[in-house]
Amino acid sequence: MSETYITRPLDENGRVVIPMEIRRTLKIQPNDLLEISAKNGVITMVKHTPGCLFCGETEDTVYFQGKTVCHKCLTALREAF
Ligand SMILES: [Zn+2]
Repeated sequence: MSETYITRPLDENGRVVIPMEIRRTLKIQPNDLLEISAKNGVITMVKHTPGCLFCGETEDTVYFQGKTVCHKCLTALREAF
């Protein structure tokens, strides 16, 4: 996906509407959870995926740098590198 720049106003309650085009492209549905973080003046929103980034496993996971990874995939990554 190419970068998209759209300007939207922030309302008095701190809300902003994510443009339909971006929601559609990223398959963001009403009530999906978004992870919001800020670093160096940049706000980032990522669709929350509760399971392992690689296999989708939801148990025995760790959260690292904004991503969930299960111990099985973590072990496989260590062995691969
Ligand atoms: Zn995994």
